[in-house]
Amino acid sequence: MHKTAPQVLSLISKYAEFLPVTLDTPIVSLGEGNTPLVEASSLPKKLGFPNLRLYFKLEGLNPTGSFKDRGMTLAISKAVEENASAVICASTGNTSASAAAFATKAGLDCFVLLPHGHVALGKVAQAIHYGARLVQIKGNFDRALQLVKEIGDKCPVTIVNSINPYRLEGQKTAAFEVIEALGEAPDYLCIPVGNAGNISAYRRGFKLFHEIGRVTSAPKMHGFEAEGSAAIVQGKPIENPETIATAIRIGNPASWKEAEAAAVDSGGKIDSVTDEEILDAYKLLGSSEGIFCEPSSAASVAGLIKHLKAGLIQADASAVCVLTGNGLKDPETPQKVNKVDLSPVEANLDALRKVMGI
Ligand SMILES: *Cc1c(COP(=O)(O)O)cnc(C)c1O
Repeated sequence: MHKTAPQVLSLISKYAEFLPVTLDTPIVSLGEGNTPLVEASSLPKKLGFPNLRLYFKLEGLNPTGSFKDRGMTLAISKAVEENASAVICASTGNTSASAAAFATKAGLDCFVLLPHGHVALGKVAQAIHYGARLVQIKGNFDRALQLVKEIGDKCPVTIVNSINPYRLEGQKTAAFEVIEALGEAPDYLCIPVGNAGNISAYRRGFKLFHEIGRVTSAPKMHGFEAEGSAAIVQGKPIENPETIATAIRIGNPASWKEAEAAAVDSGGKIDSVTDEEILDAYKLLGSSEGIFCEPSSAASVAGLIKHLKAGLIQADASAVCVLTGNGLKDPETPQKVNKVDLSPVEANLDALRKVMGI
């Protein structure tokens, strides 16, 4: 009898032929990717569009709880291949959580510049837990990213924000998985837009599988910024971006041009949704689909609803909403947006039946 090694297939080895790697690239993996594509149950009917075939790509089930792990496995693997000893990122949360985890896995130091305030508790907890060196700066995300670029120019640290070219290359694998799960391309892809890297990455993935003949079409890309930080929609950088959706609270998106091209070339559109629309969608996902995503992630569903109502998305089509991050990262939000009465009742059956109404 011979022992076989456990079959743990990393994202990079699975899609190596489509990624900038060689057999010599050391793979740093935490079991990222291969996330579920779950079909909606009651939501299409509830929204008044019963013929819509709606799917959710649950990216919150990645190892650090967001799609950022897809790009980070590649960025950190390449950093190791190129003999880096430290990495740095500016982050409102998920990038730092992912960078810290993969850097630690690879034995690299990780520096994180956090914009002051406006980061979600669970994400900072992750970066601390994975041993990153955190520095909070008195400035917003855009300022933090500027500083990271300056440090990257002058010091021996590798930048792992999405300006790192490997990030988007890794992230495009999510499009491959959507196609493999459905057996074809969906008609529409709805996705939150912050730094605009992810929409660009999905477009690359869909376009590639279309070009090599795996599918006969590519989805129309519908991206959604938060209204208070909708730089692309307004056609100008936003000095002081504001939204409860902290992961997309970005006033000057790094992948602006590629994202715009992704929407236009695919026949889709980049639009904005209000915080109220985002929170409504966030609550709906929990209460009608059993899905707990981040508020930022719910921008995809808020946008889908907006575009269905506006006739910009056909009511009998197939659509995938990318739910980019795990709701557990913002554990305080549900109690803020729902009315819950947690005052204690007497610990006896009668009292209990009375409050339960049965
Ligand atoms: C990073 C992030 C986004 C925004 O993605 P971009 O590539 O910056 O447009 C959206 N949602 C979550 C949960 C994220 O972590």
